[in-house]
Amino acid sequence: MATLYLVATPIGNLDDFSTRAVKTLQSVDQIACEDTRTSGVLLQHYQIKKPTFSFHQHNEHQKVVHIMNLLNGGLNIAIISDAGMPGISDPGFLAVRAAHQNGHTVTAIPGPDAATTAVAASGLPCDRYVYEGFLPPKKGRQTRIEAISESEVTTVVYESPHKLIRFLEKLHEFAGDERWVCVARELTKKFEEVDRGQLGSLLPRWKEKPSIKGELVVVVSGKGYSE
Ligand code: SAM
Repeated sequence: MATLYLVATPIGNLDDFSTRAVKTLQSVDQIACEDTRTSGVLLQHYQIKKPTFSFHQHNEHQKVVHIMNLLNGGLNIAIISDAGMPGISDPGFLAVRAAHQNGHTVTAIPGPDAATTAVAASGLPCDRYVYEGFLPPKKGRQTRIEAISESEVTTVVYESPHKLIRFLEKLHEFAGDERWVCVARELTKKFEEVDRGQLGSLLPRWKEKPSIKGELVVVVSGKGYSE
């Protein structure tokens, strides 16, 4: 029996990589990376010299078999993604499930993830929240946005910068001017921005921007929340 480690990596700021994460990557036999070149920067920065192989959404099924063969052969394997916690809107789930099913130990090394960081910084209720991740690009998208507008609890959405305005406009249609929202952009990075407000004022503010760049999370308050 062997161990499969899920190791959280920084979402922008290399200093957020934990000592335990470094020690874990130094101790395993091989590292499965979402993108070996992206992770190469991190591994080089922390002088981690281990064999790596790619493990991304397009080869996930095939590579799960490979990871199981390695674990069955007694090798300890770590999974890392480009940013944040593997398995959270990133490859990981299939390998973790297979490792459990095959009787291996699974250990997650906690660290940064964009959703928790955004909801904590949002100043919106975070005693209960729903993680929506990415919305479907087309089919079912409107239904999900309508459901978010009806939710009694805070919702966390991963959105791409070029779709942000369309998302906020659709949400505005369902949820109205009063709904509290927070857009958390470029978290932990140089141009970090945490902008919160009611849709009636936040949406025009974001529409005025000449361009929206970087990575972002939208936190939407539950229906009925007021301050
Ligand atoms: N596994 C990651 C995690 O634990 O958060 C999520 C990976 S998902 C493919 C990438 C999305 O996470 C981005 O499109 C964005 O919505 C969000 N994200 C990642 N890094 C971010 C950052 N520094 N600031 C804001 N959002 C970020």
